[in-house]
Amino acid sequence: MRLIPVPAFEDNYIWLVIGEDGRTAIVDPGESVPVEEALERLNLKPVAILLTHHHADHVGGVKALRERYHLPVYGPAHEARALVTHPLEGGDTVDLPGIGCFDVLFTPGHTLGHIVFHAPGVLLCGDTLFTAGCGRLFEGSAAQMADALGRIARLPDETKVYCAHEYTADNLRFARHAEPENAKIRAREQDTAERRSRGEPTVPSTLGLEKETNPFLRLDNPSLLAGAERHAGHPLRTDAERFAAVRHWKDVFDGLV
Ligand SMILES: [Zn+2]
Repeated sequence: MRLIPVPAFEDNYIWLVIGEDGRTAIVDPGESVPVEEALERLNLKPVAILLTHHHADHVGGVKALRERYHLPVYGPAHEARALVTHPLEGGDTVDLPGIGCFDVLFTPGHTLGHIVFHAPGVLLCGDTLFTAGCGRLFEGSAAQMADALGRIARLPDETKVYCAHEYTADNLRFARHAEPENAKIRAREQDTAERRSRGEPTVPSTLGLEKETNPFLRLDNPSLLAGAERHAGHPLRTDAERFAAVRHWKDVFDGLV
């Protein structure tokens, strides 16, 4: 399978997962027009829509695409019910003939019903894991998100991370603030700036790179943990406490709280 991004809105990526004979699955189409243009330009045959969660910038184009192409919609069992024709729970699989077979992981946190799709080497993670960051907790708890990210972190390091937004540069500013002596974060910032100056996406990354540079996958790192404990003002003993403190620290850093 081959994946290409369709840029949408300010900073969204709608991923096209392309298999044999141009068969294509459309992931999180927040709008339809750029997807239809890309399908036509590349002579692709849409066969399915995959949804990770219910936010409008991920589902806004579903209705128009369904009406035009008559597509099945594989998505979370617990949200976006009006749009999903094939509801999925964690542990389910989605077999798309000619494209590939995906395992479904239930990853509540950003929303309460969020799911992600994993095939060997490919993680379609919506707004759960971002490059150098993670989704904000709009609905779920820190414990849920820490658990979800912990399960994602156990996938192989070479897995490519196809998230739904171009947030790498912004996220790395906090990563460097939180772990100033991490040379890999600085190197990634340089690489990210160069790619963005050429107008290239910085997504996908790999899970291995995320484990080296993404604070939300480094909650056990002594330096990061010390900073998080200074921010929180008390010791952080559980993964949930550590995640909550780093998430809050980033939200303060970003001026969001
Ligand atoms: Zn979202």
